Amino acid sequence: MLYQSTRNKNLTATSTQAVLHGLAPDGGLYVLPDLKALSFDWRAALAQDVRGMAASVLGALLPDYEDMPELVRRAYDGKFETDELTPLVKVGDDYVLELFRGPTSAFKDVALSMLPQLMTAARKQEKLTDEIVILTATSGDTGKAALAGFCDVEGIKILVFYPDQGVSAVQKAQMVTQEGSNVGVCAIRGNFDDAQTGVKTVFSRVENENLLAGKGVRLSSANSINIGRLAPQVVYYFKAYADLVKQGRICLGDPVDYVVPTGNFGDILAGYFAKELGLPVGTLVCASNANDVLTEFIRTGRYNRVRPFHKTYSPSMDILVSSNLERLLFYVSGGDDAKIASLMAQLRETGEYQVDDAMLSSIQTQFWAGCCDDKATQETIGKVWKDCGYLCDTHTGVAWTVAQQYKKERSGSAPVVVLSTASPYKFPVAVLDAIGEDASSDEFKVMDRLHDVTNVPVPKQLASLRSRAVRHTDVIDRETILDYVLEKVSRKDWF
Ligand SMILES: *Cc1c(COP(=O)(O)O)cnc(C)c1O
Repeated sequence: MLYQSTRNKNLTATSTQAVLHGLAPDGGLYVLPDLKALSFDWRAALAQDVRGMAASVLGALLPDYEDMPELVRRAYDGKFETDELTPLVKVGDDYVLELFRGPTSAFKDVALSMLPQLMTAARKQEKLTDEIVILTATSGDTGKAALAGFCDVEGIKILVFYPDQGVSAVQKAQMVTQEGSNVGVCAIRGNFDDAQTGVKTVFSRVENENLLAGKGVRLSSANSINIGRLAPQVVYYFKAYADLVKQGRICLGDPVDYVVPTGNFGDILAGYFAKELGLPVGTLVCASNANDVLTEFIRTGRYNRVRPFHKTYSPSMDILVSSNLERLLFYVSGGDDAKIASLMAQLRETGEYQVDDAMLSSIQTQFWAGCCDDKATQETIGKVWKDCGYLCDTHTGVAWTVAQQYKKERSGSAPVVVLSTASPYKFPVAVLDAIGEDASSDEFKVMDRLHDVTNVPVPKQLASLRSRAVRHTDVIDRETILDYVLEKVSRKDWF
């Protein structure tokens, strides 16, 4: 089975090509038209350890790769705090799936450890001799996870742009101390939108004006619309399910509900993929913060991005256009590429669209949605710490709050798994404040204080940040990103 664009079934690609290209040529997202038709042996996958599960799931979703078990081994060996990669922890009556035990303490590590392996192997299999330069604009978590993932990977370089006024002190320190001979980090004067718009302009001008022709270099992106970032996330839904069976909480075949703190809709869409591959997923609960565009969409079928943008304590979920939703629309429309092209054109031109009743009813039988503000999130963090002795970050706090809303409305017997996407030490100010302590100090002191008060270990890569040498000091204006990229690309050695 070939990949195809969500907007045009004639634009096809193998899985290795889809990973290399990222986006389809018409701006659509690459999808396999029928996941059920893969006839995935989900029972056999559940019987394996997490690496075996990963090799099976990735092998099914990305069938053109020659040696998936080896790629999985290289991606994860020695990089995570635990061999389990994503441990499941019982908290109160529910479960927390910890996705933040990787090298940068955010869930993006699960995918961005794997993507460089998938890109390198695709480059080899496709016999591509061009060097790949990854460009990424980041609001914090993605940039660092991508830098760590691509650090010293052969044949690939990476440039990360972050807004100088838009990331936390910890996030900035994580990026500017990044080691490796193939990495670059540069601040953009402005906010995240300035950085993102600047990078998008580079992609389109390089493409339209053929600015890299004959230079032996091509640009690519580590953005979450790449299928190579989505596929690795399907694995932890299986892992959590297998753990619940092992613990005797459920029998094989019983449903499990998953609650997902959602931004770009990649994490929760991976749960939908798991379900299509046969895993007995019950309800997928989409949790949002004050940016509640997805809550409204799942409840009404109307997507409307024309609304105020709220800056919250869960910044990785501050988003108005959730790109990966397009893939879900494709599947629930029965693969109607013309319809998806038309909905996306409406979104671009008017800022909104409405799906038909059949699509909405398919979404509502599989998804439930809720949202909460910063105040409720902090109350939850305080309460979970006080009642259960479990410290969670702000994104997880949103998900936990929505999980309780969901349980109130639909009391069932299925276990509820809350996906936890970041270490509390990545957002120490909001977390310390939430457990009732004074957080009015610099972020690193607050981190120490959070540790003194809770005794929860600080991830070692965050604890050591203060003593690391700063390696990246460039700061530029958004208008000069293209010149900056072209100059960098023309240089062979970056360090
Ligand atoms: C990226 C991110 C999310 C949102 O995930 P999506 O796949 O974009 O929906 C949630 N929490 C954290 C900490 C993140 O970094």
